[in-house]
Amino acid sequence: MIFYGINSSKLKDGQLNNVTCSNCETQTAMTYGVFGKYFYLYWIPVFPLGKTNILECNSCKKTYKLKELPEQIKHKFKTEKHTGVL
Ligand SMILES: [Zn+2]
Repeated sequence: MIFYGINSSKLKDGQLNNVTCSNCETQTAMTYGVFGKYFYLYWIPVFPLGKTNILECNSCKKTYKLKELPEQIKHKFKTEKHTGVL
């Protein structure tokens, strides 16, 4: 019997400060998480299927995918991500 499947794990998380949420229009901070998806075979990750970036507004708790956010926040996110230690 072959065991395989797709699993995801959290690669990184952190916080973006001084961003404006487009839902509640508050200047706030957002918590983000980077999730990596892997194809597994016998519990061994074989190859990556890509990453998903999820952000949550600290005020209204609305969650966004990175691509749904305005350019300004995307830029901040990219800058922030590269300064941290993975
Ligand atoms: Zn909000």
